[in-house]
This record gives sequence, C-alpha cells and structure tokens, in this order.
Amino acid sequence: MSNFSPLGLNESLLNAIQDLGFETPSEVQEQCIPILLNQKTDLVALAQTGTGKTAAFGFPMIQLINTGNRITQGLILSPTRELCLQITNELKQYSKYEENLNVVAIYGGASITDQASKINRGAHIIVATPGRMKDMINRNIIDISQIQYCVLDEADEMLNMGFYEDITEILSYSPKAKSTWLFSATMPKEVSQIARKFMSQPVEITIGKKNVSTKNVTHSYYIVGARDRYNALKRLVDAHPDVFAVIFCRTKRDTQRIAEKLIEDGYNAAALHGDLSQNQRDLVMKSFRNKQVQMLVATDVAARGIDVDNITHVINYQLPDETEIYTHRSGRTGRAGKTGQSFVILTKSELRKIKAIEKVIGQQFTSEKLPTSEEICESQILYLAEKVKNTEVNHNIDFILPKILEKLSDFDKDELIKKFFSVEFSRFYDYYKQAPSLLQIEQTKGSEKSSSKKSHGEEHRYFINLGAKDGFTWMSLKDFLKAELNMGRDDIGKVDVMKTFSFFNTHKSKERQVLKAFENFEYNGRVVSVEITRESKESGTKNRRKPHKDKGSFSKKRGQKNQNRNKSLERRRRRG
Ligand code: ADP
Ligand code: MG
Repeated sequence: MSNFSPLGLNESLLNAIQDLGFETPSEVQEQCIPILLNQKTDLVALAQTGTGKTAAFGFPMIQLINTGNRITQGLILSPTRELCLQITNELKQYSKYEENLNVVAIYGGASITDQASKINRGAHIIVATPGRMKDMINRNIIDISQIQYCVLDEADEMLNMGFYEDITEILSYSPKAKSTWLFSATMPKEVSQIARKFMSQPVEITIGKKNVSTKNVTHSYYIVGARDRYNALKRLVDAHPDVFAVIFCRTKRDTQRIAEKLIEDGYNAAALHGDLSQNQRDLVMKSFRNKQVQMLVATDVAARGIDVDNITHVINYQLPDETEIYTHRSGRTGRAGKTGQSFVILTKSELRKIKAIEKVIGQQFTSEKLPTSEEICESQILYLAEKVKNTEVNHNIDFILPKILEKLSDFDKDELIKKFFSVEFSRFYDYYKQAPSLLQIEQTKGSEKSSSKKSHGEEHRYFINLGAKDGFTWMSLKDFLKAELNMGRDDIGKVDVMKTFSFFNTHKSKERQVLKAFENFEYNGRVVSVEITRESKESGTKNRRKPHKDKGSFSKKRGQKNQNRNKSLERRRRRG
C-alpha cells in the first residue's frame, strides 16, 4: 500500500505518484491533502520552497475536478512564467491517468492566439500569471465565473512583484462561493492582508517557522560595475581567508566559468550544476563536505537541499531572478546555532531588488564597501599568524633544526617573523599592488554619478513598440531582449516599460546587432519596430528625460520614428 493512500487519494493519482517515485508525502502534503479533499474550505499554507506545495494543492484539485463537465473549474495563479510552466508540467504528470483532464498554461511573452485556442478546446484547470490572465479575461477569451477552486501560489512573491491589483481584478470575475487556497513561503503583512480580503475563516497550516529567514545571518551588499563582479568576488574571499562558502550563480554556464576561474587563480573551488553527472555531483559534494573544497560554486537548482553545516558565507555572485530564492540561498549558512554572512554582489541598477528581498526576509541589508588592498593583506597576515599559533609542532624536523638555526642565526625574532610572513604573503601583496581595475571599483563606487554618466555616453537608448499591454514587465522584457539579441544580462540596461512601448539601453558598439535583430520582426502578429531615440542620437543621453506618458509626446516619437526608419533604410541601401 502506498504511503499516500491514507490521505484519501484515488487510484489514478496513486499510480501517477508511484511513477513519479514519490515515496512518502511531505509534511505540507500530509496536512493539506485530507483537508482539501474533504472540506469545502479556504486554506492558508506556509511552507518553504521545495517542500512539495504543488502536489499539496495539485493532487486534491485534480481529484475534485469533474471531467464530465467542460467548464473551467480550477485556477492557479503564480508569479512567473517559469513557475507557471513548472506547475502545469507537474499537474500533467500527476494527472496522467485521469481521462480527459485538460490543464492549460497562460503566461505573458508568448502567443495569445495559441493560448486562446487551447482554452477553446477546454481547460478544466488554468495555471496563469496574473498579467496575461487579466488581459485574457478582459478580452473575453477566458471565463472563470464558475470556478470552484482558486490557488494563489507563491503569494508573497506575487505581491512583491506588484500583482495585487491584477489579482483583485481577476478574482472579481470569479464566484463568491469557491474555495481559495493560498500557498506562500513567508507571511509578510501583505500576505495576511490578502488572506483576510479574499478568504473567509481559512484553515491555517504552518510548516516550520513562519518567517524562514534565520536571524543568525547578516546580509550585506556590494555595488560594483558590471564587469567587476569577479574581481569583487576575489576581494571578498581574500578578505575572509577562512571562508567556507557557497557561491551562487544564475546559470550553469556562469557557475562553470566562475569555478574554473577561481581554480585557475589558485583557490579550492568546484562547480555544482545540472550538467554534471550524478556521480560527478556526488564527488563534488563529498569534497565540499570534508572541506577539501573551500568554495562551492552552484546553481540554485543543484544546490537545493545542500545540508552542510558550518558554511560561513553565502555569496550571491548574481542575485536570483526570484526574490524568494534568496531566502533559500542565505539559509545555507547560519545553521545549527552558528552565525553566517550573506554577501550580494550587484550593479547599481539591481539595487531595487534589495528592497524586495528585505521585505521577504524581514531583515535589513547593510551596504558595504569592498575590502581595500590593505585590509585584505592584513586579514591574510593575521590568518596566517593564527594558523602558526595553532599549528602543532612536527618533531620530525628536529633532526635538521641545528642546521636551520645556524642558517638563520643572524636574524632576531622580529626579523625572522617578517621574513616568514613575507614568504607566504607576497602572492597577495604583489597581486593587489598591481590591481588597477580594483582601485577603480573603489573610486567609482563613491561617485556613482560620474561613472553612470560616463557609461551612458557610451550607450544608445532604444525605443521599442512593445510594452505592458503586450504582457511585459521590465524583467520579462529584459529577458526577451536578452534572448532575441543574444546578449548577456548586463549588456542591456535601463529597461523602462510603458503601456504600449518601452525603452532600453545597450552599448553603442551593439547598434547593428540590435537593429538587425529586429528587422522584419513580428511579435504576436504585430510588426515590431526598434529605433535609437533622438536624445541618444543627438547628445548621448546627457539630457535624458523621463518619457512622458501623454499622447502628445508619443506622437512626437512617432514622427521621429519615421525619420529614423528613413535613415536606416538609407543606411541599408548604401551598404547594399
Ligand atoms: P514548492 O512548491 O514547495 O517549492 P514543489 O512542489 O516545486 O515545491 O516540489 C519540489 C520538488 O519536490 C519537485 O521536484 C517535486 O516533484 C518534488 N516532490 C514533491 N513532493 C514530493 C514527495 N512527496 N516525495 C518526493 N519528491 C517530491
Ligand atoms: Mg511552488
């Protein structure tokens, strides 16, 4: 008998669960499933990421849906497109033995027509991001007037991302008599407010502590130029010679690259990511556990469930895309009553993310300056002195001692100490003595204005006729541009999304790449146009004004648009 049978799940779900290889229900599943199956009630469940919340609401919802009826009965709102797809995928696996159960994903940045035709074919359960969902309800493509179950997944994150109004509007189209199930990793004020507003007498389930961040961890950030991340990382680890750290990167590629660079530079580092075989990953984890590896560079997915004690530092080489993930990263340190430090390396444009994270963790960050060369050298020397102090003498060298003493007999104690430390220490000293780029970090940090002006002068500001109406937020537009332009995250800056159009910056040298990528480009059946803005053309971005939202200035832009188009046609002809 399956460990899941006592929860009241039917045969087809139990079979799917067996195929998935789930052996025992997680705590949140154990507590939620029987209640949701048997009571018509609202519910608030708090549990950390990775505790199996999707199945906690997914299993009961699948079982409760009446597939004999084609209408939409369940709605799941989730904050991001990735989560939306992940949940849809999970639900499809859970329901593989259900006959004719349709689950449809609705999210921005993809064809609305395709999604509409899927809805037309029948959607018992819709998994959606709030922006696109609202849009499709307003266009009468989706009808949720008869749903019985509504899940607000990752509610804290949805509120962080500013979806409160969208959620309110979406729910206003749903019937009063339905069950609302809210799932969240943390319970900030906003989430309890939303629970009060949209639910009546919800059953409350809390797994673990309410706010998951450990107070044993201090959080600091370091602002650097986009190209100085790696040097900043080196400074941070050099200033903490006893570091035993997990360094988080956003992608597998960065993870591998940073680990390789660190190894090249003489550190005990290793990479942990999904492209390694299970065997390789086990080996890496083993060396990390027994401290042969001092720095583990990892992706979020690969680092899930790392339970190594005594990790002194978590270093966010890049911030995660989702605020909630930060909690899990920093939770790798400060365990078992120990204290830990979480460092974030970020560029100035990412600073706003810190506010969102502070809300989630309920703790403030301190803004710190990167350690100076002198500070690094000092901590390295003191660390060495400490090591010398604690070293047990190896008496195997006694036999050669007279000869050593004779060789060094001309020096007094102070001189000897200086000499010994110089042997070990010169590596750092020489490196930092001639580390010009790092001196720059320190200077530009203090004078953000001059540095940003400088970089603006080297950038073009572009206009693109895609905006919030097309379902974009600045983050999703940046991702979209990144993919279409084949650029890195730091290559695209200052993304400002307006209702029907947006602006972004890239380095001047990328002009051809940008304009070429969007030649004859269509998005959802609409011709996309991208142009360099007039301000950018005429005077760099020195007099960059905030774009006005009123129609007048938009039509002015249009005039400009045609002018630019003519220019670019001219350019093309000349080239051709
Ligand atoms: P959460 O939403 O709480 O962050 P998820 O629902 O995404 O967590 O689940 C995290 C991972 O754990 C998923 O890969 C999921 O397939 C797996 N999982 C969920 N429940 C179980 C279980 N009972 N046994 C084993 N794995 C599980
Ligand atoms: Mg989840």
